[in-house]
Amino acid sequence: MRNRITILEKSLKCLTPLLLGGLLGCEAGGAASTSTAVRGATSSESVVVLGAKLIDGTGGAPIEDSVLVLRGDRIVAVGAATATAIPTGARVVRYSGKTIFPGLLSNHSHVGIVDGLVAGSAQYNRANILRQVQQYEAYGVTTVTALGFNGAIFDGLRAELHSGKTSGADLFGVDRGIGVPGGAPSEAVVPVGADQILRPATAEQAREAVRAMVSRRTDLVKLWIDDFGGTLPKMPPEVSQAAIDEAHRHGLRVAAHIHDLGDAKAAVRAGVDILAHGVRDQVVDGELTNLLKEHATWYVPTLQLDESAFVYADRPAWTTEPFVQRALHPDVRAQFEDPAWRERILAAPATQAARAALAMNLRNLKILHDAGVAIGFGTDSGATPLRIPGVAEHRELVLMVEAGLTPLQAIGIATRDAAAVLRLGDRGTLAPGKLADFVVVDRDPLQAIANTQSIAAVWHRGQCAGCNATYLAR
Ligand SMILES: [Zn+2]
Repeated sequence: MRNRITILEKSLKCLTPLLLGGLLGCEAGGAASTSTAVRGATSSESVVVLGAKLIDGTGGAPIEDSVLVLRGDRIVAVGAATATAIPTGARVVRYSGKTIFPGLLSNHSHVGIVDGLVAGSAQYNRANILRQVQQYEAYGVTTVTALGFNGAIFDGLRAELHSGKTSGADLFGVDRGIGVPGGAPSEAVVPVGADQILRPATAEQAREAVRAMVSRRTDLVKLWIDDFGGTLPKMPPEVSQAAIDEAHRHGLRVAAHIHDLGDAKAAVRAGVDILAHGVRDQVVDGELTNLLKEHATWYVPTLQLDESAFVYADRPAWTTEPFVQRALHPDVRAQFEDPAWRERILAAPATQAARAALAMNLRNLKILHDAGVAIGFGTDSGATPLRIPGVAEHRELVLMVEAGLTPLQAIGIATRDAAAVLRLGDRGTLAPGKLADFVVVDRDPLQAIANTQSIAAVWHRGQCAGCNATYLAR
């Protein structure tokens, strides 16, 4: 049977450089046939992915020498090479020595808010959003949740990305989101247009806001209830309660922006389904743990949010590596290289606060994870120029391991659990019937979690996504 198999090893050598912009050393002439190399399975043809160590996302032990059989956009079989039948006539892709894990899913990101260093409603446009979802996909984040601030074009773009006809990460999200009149989310921080946020003042207006979001087919409802350290008015409890009740009446779940322990407890008690940030003002206690478990509330720490506030000014070695640099808009890259900018950031009181918030967030994640609280995966990437789509998600994995989770646990949260947050049964693990969304890396992330960054290829819906693209070479 072996001689009937088409071997594509030679052309595959060039998938990495094609994906990440030629930085990783594609041999001249090595791309035997790009069009062949990037093809996935057609609806009638099988593709067999052979030889990789496979992490299936369930948290179980990896398969050292795996077989993954794809047909169309789906996985039809997965198992050990010794125990899995290879369909006759299938095209074979060899990834010996590499590791495969499911495509990452973000439960908290944003699209169309920033372009380079510029933020505002003008950035909420098709070209900018597509560039961002394509960057997420190229970095192995194959599903993204844009958690609020979405404008009128969101619904159509989401439908295109769901269909798979437009390339990029699959997109889900909150339509506008519900903030506070004169309060969060502050336009000084996220200067979006008036049509990208709803600010009800009364319970009835909150119900109307939810109904308007329902009419635009929102996937979730988002509330900003926080007072940002006492600098802004809080959302009145009767407003948040009305929004939560109305959302639940329509079968929608509610995510809430929180920062402090008190707000987290109040949100869970009021029926919020997803805490969209970690608790960062103090150590969590047994009361919050019990509330989260009793209500089966998801906790999405967004560790990278605070790290992003200072780490590019600190400039550790990883920030200068191609994995990060290729993801940066030239203006953002220039800012990171500007000593005056770095000095200003390092001296700012907000930077010290962000360092403390990250340390507390790490500590609280470990406590809640150990206690059995359901953890989701998100970073708030895309909300500011410092939260780099794709890079942020790989840093979140590193930070989860810094918090004390194992690499296998961190990957399980970013795949299986993140899919469960979105109630998407068709992805998140590598199993028969699931979408063929997976990341191929050169080095084993179970040995060192930062190895998720050694991306050799990203497969999305059974196709090697973005292998011909140049969108990272901006
Ligand atoms: Zn956010």
